Amino acid sequence: MSHQDDAYGAEIRDLSAKLGQLPSAMRDPALENRIHELQREINVSEGPLRSAKYRQDELKTERRWIESDVHGFKRALVLVGQPDGVPDSNRGGSAQRFRTKLESRVSRTIELTEEIDEFQNQIDRIETVRLALSVELVEMLHGGVADAERNVRKEDLARKKRLAALRAEMGAVEKDILWSPTAVHGYRVWTFEKDGLYGAQRPWRSPRFSARCSFDGEIPHTDGRCATVAFGCGIYAAKSVEVLMDEVDGDLGRQFVVGLVGLEGRVVEHDRGYRGEQATVLAATIVNRGTLLMTDDAGELQRMFRDPRQSFGVGAVSPPSGNSDRTMQAAIRNYLEKKAERYQTWTSANSSE
Ligand SMILES: [Zn+2]
Repeated sequence: MSHQDDAYGAEIRDLSAKLGQLPSAMRDPALENRIHELQREINVSEGPLRSAKYRQDELKTERRWIESDVHGFKRALVLVGQPDGVPDSNRGGSAQRFRTKLESRVSRTIELTEEIDEFQNQIDRIETVRLALSVELVEMLHGGVADAERNVRKEDLARKKRLAALRAEMGAVEKDILWSPTAVHGYRVWTFEKDGLYGAQRPWRSPRFSARCSFDGEIPHTDGRCATVAFGCGIYAAKSVEVLMDEVDGDLGRQFVVGLVGLEGRVVEHDRGYRGEQATVLAATIVNRGTLLMTDDAGELQRMFRDPRQSFGVGAVSPPSGNSDRTMQAAIRNYLEKKAERYQTWTSANSSE
């Protein structure tokens, strides 16, 4: 009973702690709700269980007292008995009184035993239910931990794949470092995950983003000191939209954003892309399970990064066919390239003034 309960209690605590440490975005909220519900049911049964045990203990104590009474009256009866075989009216009278008291005590112990047994049934019922709930909860927690761990591995793998694709799409590093007076334009992809839009490694909460690096010196580094992934720090942008599609497998049935960014500050040029110190998203196409949404409105872009769930709220349910994938890719490319041209024209017109 409580022995087994304790064994499950420790397992439940360990598993709950393990699940709690996994990133919330990797956990299934529906399963978490069921887990909390089960936990609540187990906790709720604790009160009645405790009071049933407490009441049973009280009855057992009472029975012990009465049993010692019974024992005393039996001894008294022996003492007032007739060891010499001669009946004595006086002695017989007290014997009768003892006998009456003894009988009432005996019938009380029978009553108490019945009550104690009734409480035992109640305790057994509650413990059976608790045991079943605990077994179910342990199974559910095991499942939840396994699921979340699988999601973490999947996410990790997807990220590694994106970084590998990033390296491929950037090509070799060029020694020239640009200090352009105007923004350098490039294209990027963000994936839509449960808690926001993600670049290759970090979440973006705003259309403006500054590169970070744990190493000293000017960012982005070009000496490879931080190049454990791809080429190291900096905000990556590709020179063309096409190469980006590898990063998301070209699957437009998924949820992601392809955008045009202006890189500023220190910009390192590669064969097929750039790494910049700062980036601002200038235009974006939101791919939402086969539907396209395009915008270059600063306010809308701001909202999209702050709360992408709104932008991804609606979308076609059926994924596009391979044919419409190509059409959509062309639409994304046309839109973003046209925007890039316009920004290029504006900046060159402004700088020639
Ligand atoms: Zn660095």
